[in-house]
Amino acid sequence: MRCELCGEEIRGKAYLGVVDRAELILCEKCVKRASKVYGPLGAKKPASQAITQSRRATRVEGGRREIVEEVVEDFAERIREARERAGFTKDTLAALLGTKVSVIRRLEEGSLKPTLEMARKLEKILKVQLIEDVSERGLEGGGIEAWEQTLGDVAEFKG
Ligand SMILES: [Zn+2]
Repeated sequence: MRCELCGEEIRGKAYLGVVDRAELILCEKCVKRASKVYGPLGAKKPASQAITQSRRATRVEGGRREIVEEVVEDFAERIREARERAGFTKDTLAALLGTKVSVIRRLEEGSLKPTLEMARKLEKILKVQLIEDVSERGLEGGGIEAWEQTLGDVAEFKG
């Protein structure tokens, strides 16, 4: 995404602001010149999503497709079964993973979802699959695309 005022790629937060009565997507520098600011954009995105998913865009025939790497839903059972199969106690697994026993307990209860990084370590240690690639299941509200849709609607409304 680019700043619509200076044209630079926005690396930090992006804002929606009014400059000379025009609504523009602004970078952190240009937002200071706005008479009114609605942003930052995408701020409502839950943090947990960023931790448990990593997105990468791949080029396939017919255009762009987004692949989402996600920790499997039944991670708790998979971890417990694989740990027991490997003959590890929770303490051993915690030590191998470099974490606390309480973390292992919560993972196996399903009350704590492992981060992708943690899941990758567990996959290696326990030789079990915990991460799957899922195709993007369409847009969920709250993202940048949803914002752009909203902007379009506003512009149309004003004619
Ligand atoms: Zn700018």
